[in-house]
Amino acid sequence: MITKPKGCNDLYGIEAKKWKYVDKVIDALMEKYNYSYIRTPIFESTELFHRGVGETTDIVTKETYDFKDRSDRSLSLRPEGTASIARSYIENKMYANGDVVKVYYNGTMYRYERPQAGRDREFTQFGCEVLGTDDPMVDAEVISMPVVLYKLLGLREIKVRINSLGDNESRKNYREALYNYFEPHIGELCEDCQERLKKNPLRILDCKVDKDNDLLKNAPKTIDYLNEDSKKRFEDVQAYLNELDIDFEIDERLVRGLDYYNHTVFEIDTLAEGFGSNNTLGGGGRYNGLVKELGGPETSCMGFAMGFGRVMEALEIEGVELPIKDDVEVFIMYVSETEKMFATSLTQYLRGNGFRVDTDYSGRGLKGQFKIADRLKAKYLIILNDEDLKNDMVRVKDNVKKSEEEVPVDYLIYYFDEHLQDEDEMDEADKFLKENEGEKNEEI
Ligand code: AMP
Repeated sequence: MITKPKGCNDLYGIEAKKWKYVDKVIDALMEKYNYSYIRTPIFESTELFHRGVGETTDIVTKETYDFKDRSDRSLSLRPEGTASIARSYIENKMYANGDVVKVYYNGTMYRYERPQAGRDREFTQFGCEVLGTDDPMVDAEVISMPVVLYKLLGLREIKVRINSLGDNESRKNYREALYNYFEPHIGELCEDCQERLKKNPLRILDCKVDKDNDLLKNAPKTIDYLNEDSKKRFEDVQAYLNELDIDFEIDERLVRGLDYYNHTVFEIDTLAEGFGSNNTLGGGGRYNGLVKELGGPETSCMGFAMGFGRVMEALEIEGVELPIKDDVEVFIMYVSETEKMFATSLTQYLRGNGFRVDTDYSGRGLKGQFKIADRLKAKYLIILNDEDLKNDMVRVKDNVKKSEEEVPVDYLIYYFDEHLQDEDEMDEADKFLKENEGEKNEEI
């Protein structure tokens, strides 16, 4: 038997329906925030990630899937979304008219990590990026948006942690302070950290091996190295978050794993009991240097990415029931060939009028068809019969109440319009946003 590669998953059945529901909520929400969908290639030139994510990051040194194509080009499966979007922003000159560009993506990422709960080799991330503004108001929007999404989906146990790495000057001072602090003790840390000390000591704070070492816990804090401008900027971000009613705490040790961050960084955890140790649902930050680093104009950017799988798991653990449709509204049953022919067009007609309709494809007898209809959780059954059809009538059975009535074929869609009330998933997003906005407006 050929099995799936390690660290990958098949998505199907009810789980797939849940994912698709969350996809729709994301699309509806992003529309409200006026972010446009963007899709970039799943593989890019290897150099993009070396320059974009950082030569010394774990992602680039150990985790990319690199390969050569038949023309000997070095390519890598994307390990994250931001570098590709910065590349696309530059290549498509999205900066040309000076507008702020707001985009979101939703796709698979690839990292050669040791597979464990919450860490896969192929995983899906939803993320957004705002390119072309340094306004701290945007930092607050990008932090608040996933919080709104989680609430909208029904998650309650979430915690937002934020920090600031400051501007280049502050970051440089902090880097020096870290170097001086770690240098005399570097022998006590893992081999990777010894390498990190020289190349980027901030990364030591992010080490998965040494994370419980007291040396890391007592390390200098970013906050103490922020210059006045950076401090003011960080305060502004907090003021906007307060205005948006987003609860957060300052996590002085938060630096994030990628090279390109400056100023604001943040992560959102699930506190749901029973969630494994990889409990960060998503995170992001400001990366004002990346577009320039990749050969584009000086551009200030802010972004966020969340792991889809972890959010789905948090929903499961918190016992959230998503309003997904895992039933059919009408199941059409038949026995004779003429009934089957009529079933074919009736199925199409009802589907075309917006109903979720299914029928039997395997020539079962009526008893067998009743069974499938129950398995599909059919709300109504149409039981075709040649005699009824001669009079343009069909028998409709309410599969819950078990009552039955004769309905003229011409009247069927009105009948189901009346009897089947369905809420559109999109409306859930609308409703939630309106309710929240409503509350806020009352306060104002
Ligand atoms: P990062 O790009 O590393 O900041 O990751 C952003 C989010 O993506 C994390 O908070 C996780 O929710 C998710 N994530 C990152 N790596 C993995 C992985 N290997 N498997 C599943 N989810 C991941």
